[in-house]
Parts: sequence; structure tokens; C-alpha cells
Amino acid sequence: MDLWFTENHTENVRFSIKVDKQLYTGQSEFQRIDIFDSEEFGRVLALDGYVMLTEKDEFMYHEMIVHVPMCVHPNPRKILVIGGGDGGTVRELVKYSSVESVDLVEIDEEVVTACKEYLPQTAGMLEDPRVNTHFEDGLKFIRHHENEYDLIIVDSTDPFGPGEGLFTREFYGNCYKALTDDGIMVNQHESPFYANDAYAMQRAHKQIVNSFPIARVYQAHIPTYPSGHWLFGFASKKYHPYNDVDFEKWKKLGLKLKYYNTNLHSASFALPTYVEELLKDV
Ligand code: SAM
Repeated sequence: MDLWFTENHTENVRFSIKVDKQLYTGQSEFQRIDIFDSEEFGRVLALDGYVMLTEKDEFMYHEMIVHVPMCVHPNPRKILVIGGGDGGTVRELVKYSSVESVDLVEIDEEVVTACKEYLPQTAGMLEDPRVNTHFEDGLKFIRHHENEYDLIIVDSTDPFGPGEGLFTREFYGNCYKALTDDGIMVNQHESPFYANDAYAMQRAHKQIVNSFPIARVYQAHIPTYPSGHWLFGFASKKYHPYNDVDFEKWKKLGLKLKYYNTNLHSASFALPTYVEELLKDV
């Protein structure tokens, strides 16, 4: 009998992937963790029944959450990642020799352990000597840091369960304080398409606009996330997300990527009219 994984995108819409083999199932203190293999998407990580990544399309998400801010900031050395226990964001960050340290703050140690065993494609660089992993709630961790990070990447689950606090005014205000004077914060910003996701996205954007002088939104195509149309928040103390960015300097690094490029960088900030309108109304 065929086995299918099904995620409810809304009460009326479901997304299913045919499962080849279940590799891991666990119930941690925070969430249910599933990793399975599939013919179309390769290995898949789901938390509480929601797809976090698939081997086939994770490059789209991880390249866009990392290389956009890394190209804008002229000298990003000290980085904080909140969430991101699958290791995909860290893997992209350690491609830069300029990065001196990455603090990874993941609430759920079991996610990291399971990903190290079953998802080496994303977790393979978590042992890089520049990476320090802290098993802690990001909401609490950030309260104790000031003027420290050049870049904060919020690679969290959705705004319910353990990730809820990472979409609040308190959290974004503390991220502002934890950044250096020219620091940047990016976050996964949900989808604009279905009403519930769009509402969460609007609420998060409002809190970010109230916390940072520069707050913009950019987009990417991520097939296994609800609607396939995904947004990221870009918040900055000083740098505009694409004017005055030294794209030539970034190109000289010679990174071999599959999704991000410098033409796409500026274009990703050009949003469809309905999304601009959702953001205007916050
Ligand atoms: N790419 C994914 C997505 O958008 O679907 C997100 C990656 S997933 C690995 C996010 C991680 O955030 C999870 O491992 C979860 O345990 C972690 N997380 C959730 N709430 C957190 C919190 N308050 N502090 C730190 N990590 C948190």
C-alpha cells in the first residue's frame, strides 16, 4: 500500500508527498520530528506535520536567507542564527572565509541530532570550528546580547508553538540591540498567499517596521512551502538592501550557487502589487 505524507496548507488545501521510507520519528519536548525519504524530493524534514525542508528545494530557501544579507553587508564577521537546527543556513554561511564565528541558537537538540544522522546535505557543516551551537530559546538568548552581531538570521518555524515568540516586537527590539551599528537582520517571513499566512506576515512586518529604520521584504520561489511563494524580511540599521551594494566585490568571491545571483538580488525586492498592498496596510 502506498504511504503518503500530507500537510494541511489551509483547512481546504492539502499538499502530499509519496513516502518511500520513514527514516526517523520522534517526539521531543517541543515538537514531533519526522524525516522520510521520497522519490520526488529526496529526504524531507517535517516538524509537527509541516515541511521544513526537502533535499530537492532547500537550496532555494537557504541561499536566499543567507546570501542576500551577506552580499549587502560589507564586512560580516560575527553572525547569529536563531532556529536553523537542520544546518542549511550554517552551511551557506561558512562558505565565506570572512566569517569568524556563527552562534547557532536552536531550541530543540533532538532536531540537530536527527539532522546530523539523516540529513548530512544540510547538517554537514555544523562541526565547522567557527560554529558554536547553543540549545536555548532564541527569545531568551537574545535578551543578553548587545552591540555584538553583524548579522542575525531568524530561521524559525512558523509563528505558533516554540517559534511564536520569534515574531514579536520584544524579540525584534532585542535583535536591534544585539546588532552592531551597521547590523542587518533577516527572517523567514511566511507566505502572502493564503489568508492565515498573510496575516502572520503582516503582523511580523509591522513589528519589524516599528523596530528598524530600514525594513523591506523580498521573495523566493520555494515549491514545497504553502503556495510556493515565500517571503523574507530584511531589516537594517544602515544599509539599503540593493542601492549601493558592491555586487562586483561579492562576485569576486566566486561562490558556486544554484539559486541566488546578483541580478536576482535586486529583483527579489520587486513585489507583486497584491503583496505591496498587504504590506502597506500594516
Ligand atoms: N526552513 C524552515 C521553514 O521555514 O520551514 C525553518 C527551519 S526549522 C529547522 C526551524 C527551527 O527553529 C526548528 O528546528 C525549531 O526547533 C527552531 N525553533 C523554533 N522556535 C525556536 C526558538 N524559540 N528558539 C530557537 N529555535 C527555535
